[in-house]
Amino acid sequence: MAQFLRCHRLLKKFCTAPLSSRLSSSNAAPSAVPYKSLKKDDVSSPVAVPKEADVVIIGGGIIGCSTLYHLTKLGCTNVVLLEKDQLTAGTTWHTAGLIWRLRPNDTDIQILNHTRHLLSEVLEKETGVHPGWINNGGLFIANSKERLNEYKRLMTIGKAFGIESHLLSPEETKKLYPLMNVSDLYGTLYSPGDGTVDPAGFCTSLVRGATKAGAQVIEKCAVTGIDVSKNDFGTKKISGVQTSAGTIKTDCIVNCTGVWAPYIGQMAGVKVPLIAMKHSYIVTDKIDGIQNMPNARDHDLSVYLRLQGDALSVGGYEPNPIFWEKVEKNFAFGLFELDWEVFGLHLEKSMHRLPALEKTGVKSTVCGPESFTADHKPLLGEDPSLRGFFHGCGFNSLGMNAGGGCGRELARWVVRGRPELDMYGYDIRRFSEKLTDNKKWIKERSHESYVKNYSIVYPHDEPLASRNMRTDAFHEELLNSGCVYQERLGFERPGWFSPEGSAPVKDYDYYGSYGIPENKDYTYVERLNEDYTFQFPKHHEIIGRECMGCRKQAAIFNMSYFGKFFLSGPDSQRAADWIFTNNVQKAPGSTVYTCMLNKFGKVEADLTASLLTPEDSSIFGSEVEKGFYIAAGGAAAQQNWTHINNVIQDEKFNVSITDVTEGFGLLSIQGPKSRELLQSLTDADLNDESFPFSTNKIINIAGAKVLAIRLSFVGEMGWELHIPYDKCVQVFKALMDKGQQYGAINAGYRSIDSLSLEKGYRHWHADLRLDDTPLEAGLGFTCKLKSQTPFLGRSALEEQKKTGLRKRLACFTIDEHIPLWGLEVIYRDGIIVGFLRRAEYGFAIGKSIGYGYVSRPDGDVVSLDYLKSGTYELESMGIRYPAVYHAKSPFDPYNLRVKGDYSGPLPLDK
Ligand SMILES: Cc1cc2nc3c(=O)[nH]c(=O)nc-3n(C[C@H](O)[C@H](O)[C@H](O)COP(=O)(O)OP(=O)(O)OC[C@H]3O[C@@H](n4cnc5c(N)ncnc54)[C@H](O)[C@@H]3O)c2cc1C
Repeated sequence: MAQFLRCHRLLKKFCTAPLSSRLSSSNAAPSAVPYKSLKKDDVSSPVAVPKEADVVIIGGGIIGCSTLYHLTKLGCTNVVLLEKDQLTAGTTWHTAGLIWRLRPNDTDIQILNHTRHLLSEVLEKETGVHPGWINNGGLFIANSKERLNEYKRLMTIGKAFGIESHLLSPEETKKLYPLMNVSDLYGTLYSPGDGTVDPAGFCTSLVRGATKAGAQVIEKCAVTGIDVSKNDFGTKKISGVQTSAGTIKTDCIVNCTGVWAPYIGQMAGVKVPLIAMKHSYIVTDKIDGIQNMPNARDHDLSVYLRLQGDALSVGGYEPNPIFWEKVEKNFAFGLFELDWEVFGLHLEKSMHRLPALEKTGVKSTVCGPESFTADHKPLLGEDPSLRGFFHGCGFNSLGMNAGGGCGRELARWVVRGRPELDMYGYDIRRFSEKLTDNKKWIKERSHESYVKNYSIVYPHDEPLASRNMRTDAFHEELLNSGCVYQERLGFERPGWFSPEGSAPVKDYDYYGSYGIPENKDYTYVERLNEDYTFQFPKHHEIIGRECMGCRKQAAIFNMSYFGKFFLSGPDSQRAADWIFTNNVQKAPGSTVYTCMLNKFGKVEADLTASLLTPEDSSIFGSEVEKGFYIAAGGAAAQQNWTHINNVIQDEKFNVSITDVTEGFGLLSIQGPKSRELLQSLTDADLNDESFPFSTNKIINIAGAKVLAIRLSFVGEMGWELHIPYDKCVQVFKALMDKGQQYGAINAGYRSIDSLSLEKGYRHWHADLRLDDTPLEAGLGFTCKLKSQTPFLGRSALEEQKKTGLRKRLACFTIDEHIPLWGLEVIYRDGIIVGFLRRAEYGFAIGKSIGYGYVSRPDGDVVSLDYLKSGTYELESMGIRYPAVYHAKSPFDPYNLRVKGDYSGPLPLDK
């Protein structure tokens, strides 16, 4: 009764409409899930466990069950799932079970689509167990024009994956969902294929499929310890799992223990960066007329309405979620009491959208634990510090939706060594090991991601939580010059430079929740708000000026966040030959742009490797006979580092690799005036003969010894200066002072993104990813296939060369003056053949440009002739625009500018 009274008070507080008598007839709302659970009273503890297993999965929630199932599908059947209580006992049993698929990310869509495929097409046929799938459709509700634009984007990208969806007007929405208040709607997106799942059915069917194939599930068997050993080479690896019923010898575990995952991590000395929160929904009494309605998500109001028979489950994402600070180890089939003060906001919003709720009582409440992460994406994949320890946790209230697809990718990861989809956004390696045990970072970022879960996903949004974790030597100087920073891997990197002055990032204010005063007069937030559009942002022209400053004079880019590694030792040449696709058997002083592949020929990274003379290598500590200095994109530095180290371990190369990232700043000076500017500050000869493209040497500049590398990420003549940390500011000041004479300006990553795409350079994890090969990406020139030197991934590329490419990266421009953002769909002769991976506005050519992979509807080989012969259109937010295919980059196709040949005019000046 007390609960009801609290609820009643809240409803009164939040509702303007009077509460009806029906509501007051609602009795106290018990904590109870709205379906049957798998809880049984007669499950006893096992007396023994198998002596050994190929894989041990820890945790019997949806992720453990799905991974088990998919492992058996790959023929891995000597596998055991251990559950400390009974299947589903953690978070899974009380899920709301909504299944959606349209998200602004193609990997997410494929992951979610696989879950639905299992539920609707596979599991019942295969196992005879109904997986609890109900296909009642899903409705996204737009309360603003920009939200509707986002839905249009989702509708468009959905087409590339065969996901049916329709934009509905408010009137059409009312027809579909008569109980809905549509008075303030801009429209809705209806996806008839979506639905809901009952967790007990889903897990039972997966486990039935897996055990039929030979897998074992052992309930009432808690994991109490993890055995870790070292091989002869000193590599740490999993060697066993201790349980309440004995030890299992294994070299592979998958940690699928949800909010308990950090405990398993602790047993093995592995950091698991997630945090537990209390997440809730309520189940209403019967609502007349609600039967057969689709589930609805009102993102702007941050609530969902899930059909539950003749009632609804109502939940959402509040600004002040409650953290479960001390996760109880023995919690099973448990729920917390709902805090109505926190949940009340959702009542107000849901009653606004569905006025019938005002007269409806609350049948039960469900408040349970769920794990959340710094970017609202799960933690998957092998840990960088411990071989054989796979993460499968941190599902951010998306585990039912993502469980099927993530289980499949995890199984591939375990069995084949790598997943098939581009899972970088889910991979534990996307976070720096320097942050993953930082409790403040985990809590702040997880809070912000939770609160923003339903926010519009704008391409240039940035977090406010836990900023300034890693700053470089130039940070203050650039901040004072108006730098608007972006955050990548914990590092602050320059985004763009505002003429309106400095925009520092403040300490996180939890958006004013928990009694923390909200940051006021927050210029950085104002700058971000200007980016919250799918049109050209307010500062589009400013970024244009940076780009054209680079194309016409010189721009100084601070790229210090780059990962910087030094590889040396007796096997360094052998290791570099094997790890890098490009020929690195070169004289000291050479710099090589190269890819790194896995055994499937897929691109794990692209980077530059500089061969140093013994004297020059002393800048990194000591003179070595052969040293490779590696500079890799900062956002993926952990990924690069882990890949290189894993290969070194696998191949037992006798080398040492040192991370020198923090010890060096990196300034890149690019543009026609870059040489004159630099030459005015150094006595080293920078002419083409002495310092050609793709070479490096130590030079003195402004009193500092720096490693200069002649390279470009933007398609201009330019040099990177790798500067010892304590000399950074003096070099920067000298460059800026002298730079005035040459029209040099500061420029940021927004410009690099635009300039690089205009020139046709690839960005890893955008137009070049883990699901692409260099041949498909047009980077065959980085692969030493004509040499006899073996390298990792070579045989896969040779095979692909023989059988032909089934997709190819292609460049398109449109004449229409609209921005492209990526995820636009590519039509060739009226048929969908792909979607844009990356898109930018090219200021020198004055057009929007997009790159995407084209494949043939019949799955056949994509030849260059096939690409050239089509008539193309790009669909952006539901509208098709004629597009031009470019066989070569539309900007400087013959690479004259990087070589210092500025004889030709810029395209728009012609
Ligand atoms: C209120 C609420 C609503 C939600 N709604 C949705 C939704 O609509 N759609 C959606 O997709 N997702 C939703 N979710 C999220 C989804 O339910 C979870 O993401 C998912 O259930 C997590 O599954 P899991 O397997 O990672 O974890 P769990 O289900 O928690 O499984 C972990 C298991 O590990 C076991 N374990 C722990 N320690 C040990 C040990 N030492 N030894 C052996 N076993 C151990 C536990 O007992 C537990 O059974 C919701 C979550 C909540 C809380």
